[in-house]
Amino acid sequence: MSIVVVGSVFYDTIETPHGRAERQLGGSATHFALAASFFAPVRMVAAVGDDFGADALAVHRARGVDLEGVQRRAGTTGRWTGRYHEDMNVRDTLDLDLGVFADFQPELPPSYRTAEYLFLGNIDPTLQENVLEQLARPAVVAADTMNHWIDNARPALEKLLRRVQILLINDEEARLLSGEHNLVRAARRILGMGPSSVLIKRGEYGVIHFSGDSVFAVPAFPLEDVFDPTGAGDAFAGGFLGSLARAGALGERNVRQAIVYGSVMGSFIVEDFGFERLSRLEAEDVERRYRQFLALTEVA
Ligand code: AMP
Repeated sequence: MSIVVVGSVFYDTIETPHGRAERQLGGSATHFALAASFFAPVRMVAAVGDDFGADALAVHRARGVDLEGVQRRAGTTGRWTGRYHEDMNVRDTLDLDLGVFADFQPELPPSYRTAEYLFLGNIDPTLQENVLEQLARPAVVAADTMNHWIDNARPALEKLLRRVQILLINDEEARLLSGEHNLVRAARRILGMGPSSVLIKRGEYGVIHFSGDSVFAVPAFPLEDVFDPTGAGDAFAGGFLGSLARAGALGERNVRQAIVYGSVMGSFIVEDFGFERLSRLEAEDVERRYRQFLALTEVA
Protein backbone atom coordinates (compact mmCIF):
# COMPACT_ATOMS: atom_id res chain seq x y z
CA MET A 1 0.00 0.00 0.00
CA SER A 2 1.42 3.40 -0.89
CA ILE A 3 1.49 6.58 1.18
CA VAL A 4 1.09 10.16 -0.04
CA VAL A 5 2.60 12.79 2.24
CA VAL A 6 2.14 16.53 2.00
CA GLY A 7 4.19 18.70 4.29
CA SER A 8 6.94 21.23 4.51
CA VAL A 9 10.38 21.00 2.92
CA PHE A 10 12.30 23.74 4.69
CA TYR A 11 15.82 24.84 5.41
CA ASP A 12 16.21 24.75 9.18
CA THR A 13 18.57 26.57 11.48
CA ILE A 14 18.75 24.67 14.73
CA GLU A 15 20.32 25.56 18.04
CA THR A 16 20.59 22.88 20.70
CA PRO A 17 22.72 22.68 23.86
CA HIS A 18 25.07 20.54 21.68
CA GLY A 19 25.64 23.10 18.95
CA ARG A 20 24.18 24.91 16.00
CA ALA A 21 23.42 23.78 12.45
CA GLU A 22 22.50 26.16 9.64
CA ARG A 23 20.63 25.54 6.41
CA GLN A 24 19.93 21.97 7.41
CA LEU A 25 17.37 20.33 5.12
CA GLY A 26 14.27 19.69 7.21
CA GLY A 27 10.52 20.04 7.14
CA SER A 28 7.71 17.68 8.02
CA ALA A 29 7.49 15.97 4.61
CA THR A 30 11.26 15.52 4.39
CA HIS A 31 11.56 13.69 7.72
CA PHE A 32 8.31 11.76 7.33
CA ALA A 33 9.10 10.49 3.83
CA LEU A 34 12.54 9.21 4.71
CA ALA A 35 11.31 7.37 7.81
CA ALA A 36 8.27 5.89 6.02
CA SER A 37 10.41 4.71 3.08
CA PHE A 38 11.76 1.91 5.31
CA PHE A 39 8.28 0.35 5.29
CA ALA A 40 6.23 1.23 2.18
CA PRO A 41 6.31 3.18 -1.11
CA VAL A 42 6.09 6.93 -0.43
CA ARG A 43 4.97 9.75 -2.75
CA MET A 44 5.83 13.25 -1.65
CA VAL A 45 3.95 16.54 -2.24
CA ALA A 46 5.71 19.82 -1.44
CA ALA A 47 7.01 23.08 -2.90
CA VAL A 48 10.63 24.21 -3.02
CA GLY A 49 12.12 27.46 -4.27
CA ASP A 50 14.63 28.17 -6.99
CA ASP A 51 17.34 28.29 -4.29
CA PHE A 52 16.77 24.59 -3.55
CA GLY A 53 19.84 22.41 -4.12
CA ALA A 54 19.47 20.26 -7.26
CA ASP A 55 20.41 17.13 -5.34
CA ALA A 56 19.11 18.08 -1.90
CA LEU A 57 16.66 15.14 -1.87
CA ALA A 58 19.18 12.62 -3.25
CA VAL A 59 18.91 10.45 -0.12
CA HIS A 60 15.15 10.30 -0.59
CA ARG A 61 15.46 9.43 -4.27
CA ALA A 62 17.96 6.69 -3.42
CA ARG A 63 15.44 5.20 -0.99
CA GLY A 64 12.80 5.14 -3.73
CA VAL A 65 10.67 8.11 -2.55
CA ASP A 66 8.57 9.40 -5.47
CA LEU A 67 9.40 13.10 -5.89
CA GLU A 68 7.15 13.87 -8.86
CA GLY A 69 4.83 15.88 -6.58
CA VAL A 70 7.65 18.16 -5.34
CA GLN A 71 7.19 21.38 -7.31
CA ARG A 72 10.01 23.83 -7.92
CA ARG A 73 8.61 27.36 -7.93
CA ALA A 74 9.95 30.90 -8.34
CA GLY A 75 10.83 32.24 -4.89
CA THR A 76 12.65 30.95 -1.83
CA THR A 77 12.36 27.64 -0.02
CA GLY A 78 10.66 27.96 3.38
CA ARG A 79 12.87 28.52 6.42
CA TRP A 80 12.48 27.74 10.10
CA THR A 81 14.77 28.63 12.99
CA GLY A 82 14.30 26.84 16.28
CA ARG A 83 16.14 26.86 19.60
CA TYR A 84 15.98 24.05 22.16
CA HIS A 85 16.26 24.67 25.87
CA GLU A 86 18.51 22.69 28.20
CA ASP A 87 15.38 20.55 28.67
CA MET A 88 15.14 19.51 25.04
CA ASN A 89 11.42 18.82 25.30
CA VAL A 90 11.03 22.59 25.11
CA ARG A 91 11.78 24.56 21.96
CA ASP A 92 11.06 28.05 20.69
CA THR A 93 10.43 29.04 17.10
CA LEU A 94 12.70 32.05 16.54
CA ASP A 95 11.81 32.60 12.92
CA LEU A 96 9.44 31.16 10.30
CA ASP A 97 9.33 32.12 6.64
CA LEU A 98 6.96 29.95 4.58
CA GLY A 99 8.63 30.99 1.31
CA VAL A 100 6.98 29.33 -1.71
CA PHE A 101 4.57 27.48 0.61
CA ALA A 102 2.72 30.74 1.30
CA ASP A 103 0.70 30.50 -1.93
CA PHE A 104 1.32 26.87 -2.91
CA GLN A 105 -1.57 25.23 -4.80
CA PRO A 106 -0.66 21.54 -4.97
CA GLU A 107 -1.63 19.61 -8.08
CA LEU A 108 -1.22 15.90 -7.42
CA PRO A 109 0.26 13.76 -10.21
CA PRO A 110 -2.37 11.23 -11.43
CA SER A 111 -0.36 8.29 -10.05
CA TYR A 112 -0.72 9.75 -6.52
CA ARG A 113 -4.51 9.97 -6.50
CA THR A 114 -5.21 6.33 -5.82
CA ALA A 115 -2.92 6.04 -2.77
CA GLU A 116 -4.55 4.27 0.18
CA TYR A 117 -2.67 6.05 2.97
CA LEU A 118 -2.42 9.81 3.38
CA PHE A 119 -0.27 11.76 5.80
CA LEU A 120 -1.08 15.44 6.14
CA GLY A 121 2.18 16.71 7.62
CA ASN A 122 2.44 19.92 9.55
CA ILE A 123 1.54 22.75 7.14
CA ASP A 124 -1.37 25.15 6.61
CA PRO A 125 -4.59 23.16 7.28
CA THR A 126 -6.22 24.63 4.16
CA LEU A 127 -3.42 23.12 2.10
CA GLN A 128 -3.80 19.82 3.97
CA GLU A 129 -7.49 19.71 3.06
CA ASN A 130 -6.77 20.63 -0.55
CA VAL A 131 -4.55 17.53 -0.86
CA LEU A 132 -7.10 15.33 0.92
CA GLU A 133 -9.67 16.37 -1.67
CA GLN A 134 -7.47 15.22 -4.53
CA LEU A 135 -7.27 11.61 -3.33
CA ALA A 136 -9.89 9.28 -4.76
CA ARG A 137 -10.63 7.10 -1.73
CA PRO A 138 -7.92 7.03 0.93
CA ALA A 139 -8.40 4.21 3.44
CA VAL A 140 -6.44 5.93 6.20
CA VAL A 141 -6.01 9.68 6.72
CA ALA A 142 -3.58 10.81 9.42
CA ALA A 143 -2.57 14.38 10.22
CA ASP A 144 -0.17 16.38 12.33
CA THR A 145 -0.23 20.06 13.20
CA MET A 146 1.64 22.64 15.23
CA ASN A 147 0.99 25.49 17.67
CA HIS A 148 1.50 27.96 14.80
CA TRP A 149 -1.59 26.65 12.97
CA ILE A 150 -3.68 26.13 16.12
CA ASP A 151 -3.08 29.80 16.95
CA ASN A 152 -3.41 31.22 13.44
CA ALA A 153 -5.73 28.90 11.48
CA ARG A 154 -8.04 27.25 14.04
CA PRO A 155 -11.28 27.31 11.98
CA ALA A 156 -9.57 25.63 9.00
CA LEU A 157 -7.93 23.13 11.33
CA GLU A 158 -11.22 22.24 13.06
CA LYS A 159 -12.85 21.77 9.64
CA LEU A 160 -10.04 19.45 8.58
CA LEU A 161 -10.18 17.42 11.81
CA ARG A 162 -13.71 16.31 10.99
CA ARG A 163 -12.22 14.38 8.03
CA VAL A 164 -9.14 12.94 9.77
CA GLN A 165 -9.04 9.48 11.39
CA ILE A 166 -5.74 9.71 13.23
CA LEU A 167 -4.34 12.90 14.72
CA LEU A 168 -0.71 12.97 15.82
CA ILE A 169 0.05 15.89 18.07
CA ASN A 170 2.50 16.74 20.85
CA ASP A 171 1.46 17.30 24.47
CA GLU A 172 1.76 21.08 24.40
CA GLU A 173 -0.27 21.29 21.17
CA ALA A 174 -2.90 18.88 22.52
CA ARG A 175 -3.39 21.22 25.50
CA LEU A 176 -3.57 24.26 23.23
CA LEU A 177 -6.05 22.63 20.85
CA SER A 178 -8.33 21.20 23.55
CA GLY A 179 -8.08 23.84 26.26
CA GLU A 180 -7.48 20.99 28.77
CA HIS A 181 -4.26 20.61 30.75
CA ASN A 182 -4.71 16.97 31.68
CA LEU A 183 -3.74 14.83 28.69
CA VAL A 184 -6.46 12.21 29.16
CA ARG A 185 -9.09 14.95 29.14
CA ALA A 186 -7.32 16.67 26.24
CA ALA A 187 -7.43 13.44 24.23
CA ARG A 188 -11.16 12.97 24.95
CA ARG A 189 -11.85 16.52 23.77
CA ILE A 190 -9.85 15.99 20.57
CA LEU A 191 -11.65 12.70 19.89
CA GLY A 192 -14.85 14.74 20.05
CA MET A 193 -13.55 16.96 17.22
CA GLY A 194 -13.54 14.18 14.62
CA PRO A 195 -10.56 11.82 14.75
CA SER A 196 -11.27 8.27 15.93
CA SER A 197 -7.77 7.98 17.27
CA VAL A 198 -5.28 10.46 18.76
CA LEU A 199 -1.59 9.93 19.40
CA ILE A 200 -0.02 12.33 21.87
CA LYS A 201 3.76 12.65 21.51
CA ARG A 202 5.58 13.50 24.72
CA GLY A 203 9.21 13.81 23.62
CA GLU A 204 11.54 11.87 25.90
CA TYR A 205 8.52 10.48 27.79
CA GLY A 206 7.18 8.57 24.78
CA VAL A 207 3.70 8.49 23.27
CA ILE A 208 0.15 7.68 24.37
CA HIS A 209 -2.51 6.50 21.96
CA PHE A 210 -6.21 7.00 22.69
CA SER A 211 -8.98 5.38 20.67
CA GLY A 212 -12.46 4.53 21.93
CA ASP A 213 -11.87 2.89 25.30
CA SER A 214 -8.37 1.74 24.44
CA VAL A 215 -5.22 3.42 25.75
CA PHE A 216 -1.73 2.26 24.73
CA ALA A 217 1.54 3.81 25.84
CA VAL A 218 5.12 3.34 24.66
CA PRO A 219 8.15 4.90 26.34
CA ALA A 220 10.82 6.72 24.35
CA PHE A 221 13.97 4.70 23.80
CA PRO A 222 16.41 5.53 26.63
CA LEU A 223 19.29 7.29 24.84
CA GLU A 224 22.42 8.65 26.48
CA ASP A 225 22.69 11.54 24.02
CA VAL A 226 19.81 13.27 22.32
CA PHE A 227 21.59 15.39 19.78
CA ASP A 228 18.78 17.21 17.94
CA PRO A 229 15.08 16.43 18.51
CA THR A 230 13.99 18.16 15.28
CA GLY A 231 11.91 15.88 13.12
CA ALA A 232 11.29 13.32 15.88
CA GLY A 233 7.52 13.80 15.53
CA ASP A 234 7.64 13.44 11.76
CA ALA A 235 9.97 10.45 11.84
CA PHE A 236 7.62 8.90 14.40
CA ALA A 237 4.70 9.52 12.04
CA GLY A 238 6.68 8.03 9.13
CA GLY A 239 7.46 4.83 11.03
CA PHE A 240 3.90 4.65 12.35
CA LEU A 241 2.04 5.14 9.08
CA GLY A 242 4.69 3.23 7.13
CA SER A 243 4.24 0.22 9.38
CA LEU A 244 0.44 0.45 9.09
CA ALA A 245 0.68 0.64 5.29
CA ARG A 246 3.01 -2.37 5.27
CA ALA A 247 0.54 -4.32 7.44
CA GLY A 248 -2.31 -3.21 5.14
CA ALA A 249 -5.03 -3.03 7.81
CA LEU A 250 -5.88 -1.08 10.94
CA GLY A 251 -6.55 -3.73 13.64
CA GLU A 252 -5.49 -3.07 17.25
CA ARG A 253 -2.38 -5.28 16.99
CA ASN A 254 -1.20 -3.51 13.81
CA VAL A 255 -1.77 -0.11 15.39
CA ARG A 256 0.23 -1.08 18.49
CA GLN A 257 3.06 -2.49 16.38
CA ALA A 258 3.03 0.70 14.28
CA ILE A 259 3.35 2.84 17.43
CA VAL A 260 6.47 0.89 18.38
CA TYR A 261 7.94 1.28 14.85
CA GLY A 262 7.15 5.00 15.03
CA SER A 263 9.02 5.19 18.33
CA VAL A 264 11.95 3.34 16.73
CA MET A 265 12.23 5.89 13.89
CA GLY A 266 11.83 8.84 16.28
CA SER A 267 14.62 7.44 18.46
CA PHE A 268 17.02 7.24 15.51
CA ILE A 269 16.48 10.71 14.08
CA VAL A 270 17.39 12.48 17.34
CA GLU A 271 20.85 10.88 17.37
CA ASP A 272 22.23 13.43 14.89
CA PHE A 273 21.37 16.76 13.25
CA GLY A 274 18.60 16.82 10.63
CA PHE A 275 18.01 13.43 8.96
CA GLU A 276 21.72 12.56 8.99
CA ARG A 277 21.14 9.45 11.12
CA LEU A 278 18.29 8.16 8.92
CA SER A 279 20.43 8.51 5.82
CA ARG A 280 22.92 5.99 7.30
CA LEU A 281 20.27 3.62 8.64
CA GLU A 282 19.82 0.00 7.49
CA ALA A 283 16.69 -2.14 7.68
CA GLU A 284 18.41 -4.44 10.22
CA ASP A 285 19.02 -1.47 12.55
CA VAL A 286 15.26 -0.81 12.52
CA GLU A 287 14.39 -4.42 13.35
CA ARG A 288 17.05 -4.65 16.07
CA ARG A 289 15.76 -1.55 17.82
CA TYR A 290 12.18 -2.77 17.46
CA ARG A 291 13.15 -5.88 19.45
CA GLN A 292 14.96 -3.72 22.02
CA PHE A 293 11.77 -1.68 22.40
CA LEU A 294 9.69 -4.77 23.09
CA ALA A 295 12.27 -5.90 25.65
CA LEU A 296 11.93 -2.55 27.49
CA THR A 297 8.68 -3.50 29.13
CA GLU A 298 8.85 -7.28 28.96
CA VAL A 299 8.53 -9.02 32.32
CA ALA A 300 10.70 -12.16 32.19
P1 AMP B 1 9.03 18.13 14.47
O1 AMP B 1 10.31 18.29 15.26
O2 AMP B 1 8.71 16.72 14.12
O3 AMP B 1 7.90 18.89 15.08
O4 AMP B 1 9.26 18.81 13.05
C1 AMP B 1 10.10 19.90 12.86
C2 AMP B 1 10.09 20.33 11.39
O5 AMP B 1 8.89 21.09 11.14
C3 AMP B 1 11.27 21.20 11.07
O6 AMP B 1 12.16 20.51 10.20
C4 AMP B 1 10.68 22.46 10.43
O7 AMP B 1 11.24 22.74 9.19
C5 AMP B 1 9.19 22.17 10.28
N1 AMP B 1 8.33 23.29 10.67
C6 AMP B 1 8.50 24.15 11.70
N2 AMP B 1 7.48 25.05 11.76
C7 AMP B 1 6.64 24.75 10.74
C8 AMP B 1 5.38 25.28 10.26
N3 AMP B 1 4.77 26.31 10.88
N4 AMP B 1 4.81 24.69 9.18
C9 AMP B 1 5.39 23.64 8.59
N5 AMP B 1 6.56 23.09 8.99
C10 AMP B 1 7.19 23.62 10.05
